[in-house]
Amino acid sequence: MADLELIHGLLTPADSKILLLVLDGLGGLPIEPGGLTELEAASTPNMDRLAAEGIVGLHQPVGPGIAPGSGPGHIGLFGYDAIRYQIGRGVLEALGIGFDLQADDLAARGNFCTIDSEGNITDRRAGRISTERCRELCGELQQIRVPGVQIFVEPVREHRFLLVLRGDGLVEGVADTDPGRVGSPPLPVTAERAEAEATAEVVRRFVDEAQRRLAGREPANMVLLRGFARLPDWPRFPETFGLRSIAVAQYPMYRGVAKLVGMDTEEVGPSRDDLFAALQRVWPGYDFAFVHVKETDRAGEDGDFDRKVSVIEEIDGYIPAIVDLQPDVILVTGDHSTPAVLRSHSWHPVPFLLWSRTCRSDEMEHFGERWCLRGGGGMRRSEDLMPLVLANAGRLAKFGA
Ligand code: ZN
Repeated sequence: MADLELIHGLLTPADSKILLLVLDGLGGLPIEPGGLTELEAASTPNMDRLAAEGIVGLHQPVGPGIAPGSGPGHIGLFGYDAIRYQIGRGVLEALGIGFDLQADDLAARGNFCTIDSEGNITDRRAGRISTERCRELCGELQQIRVPGVQIFVEPVREHRFLLVLRGDGLVEGVADTDPGRVGSPPLPVTAERAEAEATAEVVRRFVDEAQRRLAGREPANMVLLRGFARLPDWPRFPETFGLRSIAVAQYPMYRGVAKLVGMDTEEVGPSRDDLFAALQRVWPGYDFAFVHVKETDRAGEDGDFDRKVSVIEEIDGYIPAIVDLQPDVILVTGDHSTPAVLRSHSWHPVPFLLWSRTCRSDEMEHFGERWCLRGGGGMRRSEDLMPLVLANAGRLAKFGA
């Protein structure tokens, strides 16, 4: 499913409003087999009330057995097939630091690395230099001039940086220069197709000059580049689904992914009150608001089961304020699972809770994986949630006569 054209063709006008609350990495696992997951262990009376009136279920991002990044996880929730609509690595890196990527930009992920006197790589991460050192070196590389092209070199973290080339005619199709192993030199800059040759030449000149400027600056005496990508030209979310849409998120990466599909974005302060105050502020002007909570995923990645539980409980405390906004449809879910016991994103299907006035009761009175497994929402691909949400919002007409 997730046929964007089909859904678009069925749109019917309505003034209903939709709220998508994403608790990043929401899905979990018990500490001991047979025990409770983070969501099951959390006391969530407000979400449970919505679950009792609505339906719960599980959604599968990307595909069975696949642990997705947050980029594809969100792309799926926004109704797009995450395999067809892939975000280039360079673009993802730019989104992560809030770099304002333009339509003509070509972005790549960069690593400072160490090469020996023969030119062979001895450390692909340059001993994980400090972010401060990375910033100094980026300042140095930012001085590089290539005619006709504007160059941005932005520090990310430790040895990682973002390279953005801005100019006419830059295209995708430049191969990675990172061989992915030590003991051999960085790969020469090559074009993967003939049309990318001029772009490859620009990159070549940058890399040659970077190597000259970094000589003697061990451990960071060379650069590796990968994931050359431009902003994708995708169907825009607001037009495709007929929704004035906004993302309310504290981290640039999530505002960035929303911006990729054409949503407006709202920058918010660091506290949880800031996040929900921002939602209240923007709510009157939009049909669809996506609110992103990062800390569930962070606690999962830190292996902190108890903290993940308490973040879920704290967010539950904001549900009454959300209900007061009188959304017609509320979808609470995650973009993937991040079980604390695994300390990483995982392939497990993600719990969701869908509330509207037109839900059938599924007799599930709690929001948690074991209820979701038996709930009326069933097991769906992530991208199939958007059509369900639209139908519940009264925004899809009958198909066929
Ligand atoms: Zn995530």
